[in-house]
Amino acid sequence: MNKLEPTWWFVFHNDQVLLEKKEGSFTIPCTPEAPIALNGHTVHNLATLNGYACKTVTTDNSVEENEKFIMVDLRGSYDYIPPSQFNMAGKAREILYWDRTSTYCPVCGVQTQQFMPIAKKCPECGYEMFPNISAAILALVRKEDSILLVRARNFRGPFYGLVAGFLETGETLEECVKREVMEETGLTVDNITYFGNQPWPFPSGLMVGFIADYVSGEINLQDEELSEAAFYTRDNLPELPRKLSLARKMIDWWVNETTKI
Ligand SMILES: [Zn+2]
Repeated sequence: MNKLEPTWWFVFHNDQVLLEKKEGSFTIPCTPEAPIALNGHTVHNLATLNGYACKTVTTDNSVEENEKFIMVDLRGSYDYIPPSQFNMAGKAREILYWDRTSTYCPVCGVQTQQFMPIAKKCPECGYEMFPNISAAILALVRKEDSILLVRARNFRGPFYGLVAGFLETGETLEECVKREVMEETGLTVDNITYFGNQPWPFPSGLMVGFIADYVSGEINLQDEELSEAAFYTRDNLPELPRKLSLARKMIDWWVNETTKI
């Protein structure tokens, strides 16, 4: 490989990613050499972006904002960099998270060894470790001309979103939708159809979105998870999730569908 070939460097300190200031905007650094000192941490190969290799690495210290660089948290970076760079930064964050949480074999406690870009093996018992992806559902529940929106206690900010929850073992995604809507709001839903999905690197997930129709029940909140839930019509929507989320894409889709009717 040509040594002078530029490389995209996804450099993280905890949840913060390094951005380079360039001509009045921001970018993931794309340089032949690492943009800052790397402290000897393992450099992971990711994929290619616009024809150049992508690498990711952790640094011990945050980089103070200066003329050339700034560090922002991964979620916030959505507002700074193009979607293709943001998506790759998410993948990078998932790989680094996996690397940090797979140092020792969970079966016998021996230090693991990486033998492929995303595979480690225990030299003692042979147990193999790959990045674990946690699947979670999002449910857009329709009732006549309104949709169910909820405020989860763990939401960052004053917005309302969709019912969401992690898939359990032995469960189909559709069963998960029914269970989560019932557990969180006491409502029965049916007519569940797939909408789309989105990697969700906080820290290592996949959101899978479904549209469902209300069947029966009164809203009965699960207090530990939700602080509010109600049906909202299109002209009475509360503050919505940010554009980066699949939930927002689903709500926008519904708003546009409703407008057409
Ligand atoms: Zn082992």
